[in-house]
Amino acid sequence: MKNRLLFLGPPGAGKGTQASQICNDLDLMHLSTGELLRAEVEAKTSLGQEVSLIMNKGELVSDDIVLSIVQNRLVNGEREGWLLDGFPRNLVQAKSLQKLLDELSQKIQAVILIEISDEILIQRLLSRGRPDDNEEAIRKRLIVYKEKTAPLIDFYSDAGILNAIDGEGQVIDVALRIREVLN
Ligand code: ADP
Repeated sequence: MKNRLLFLGPPGAGKGTQASQICNDLDLMHLSTGELLRAEVEAKTSLGQEVSLIMNKGELVSDDIVLSIVQNRLVNGEREGWLLDGFPRNLVQAKSLQKLLDELSQKIQAVILIEISDEILIQRLLSRGRPDDNEEAIRKRLIVYKEKTAPLIDFYSDAGILNAIDGEGQVIDVALRIREVLN
């Protein structure tokens, strides 16, 4: 079973839900940069104060900040397997990740792209109620996804490790589609 994974897909695609389940089942470290940043905001750390406005606007926080968060956890992680969720979000981050993994002699075994129509993801995000789930921030996050994150689809497709799956339908059905890729 593949156990070094990367989830790609627009906000609202269900990455977090699916990632939590898989990490539980396979005992992987779930590395969600969005969750880790939200924890900093809630704890009102200086980092949290620095990023909260940016997050609420739906923009990306700086590459240096997310990179140091991820690096820390990958270097000190106790589990063999991991799942990256919400990172990388642009080409600079993807290339930095590659460099870090080379240094650690680790490899991404599968990139899973969760695909979903704009219409359904806007519906899902509007019903979720996070501070950055207002209409304006959602629109901004979709634009940022298309401009900055979607180019990673070609990047990982060229690397031969991209697997696109249909993210619509019941949670369990999506989970089964992902499982097939991991075998
Ligand atoms: P969603 O997938 O619904 O957009 P996330 O929890 O992944 O939610 O991210 C929420 C916010 O956290 C993003 O809009 C962004 O401001 C910030 N963020 C998360 N991951 C990154 C990252 N890798 N690079 C820059 N900003 C990030």
